[in-house]
Amino acid sequence: MTSGVVSNGGYISRARRYQLRYKQAGLCMLCPVPAVNKNYRAKHAVAAREQQRARMKFKRRNLGAASYSFSRTNTCAI
Ligand SMILES: [Zn+2]
Repeated sequence: MTSGVVSNGGYISRARRYQLRYKQAGLCMLCPVPAVNKNYRAKHAVAAREQQRARMKFKRRNLGAASYSFSRTNTCAI
């Protein structure tokens, strides 16, 4: 495959190219909406946080983290 080859000879997927392009443009990496933090808009920042929590089986919550201040209405019951 030639379309996914990058300058160092490695390969990135089409989805990864979209993510990098959106990030460079200041958009959410998952959808073309302006991002509120480095990578995601508020909804997807919360989703990414919860995915990581589920994967790592964390018990505590870092309530001072920025993603908790994005949306008060969307917080889980603690
Ligand atoms: Zn998004």
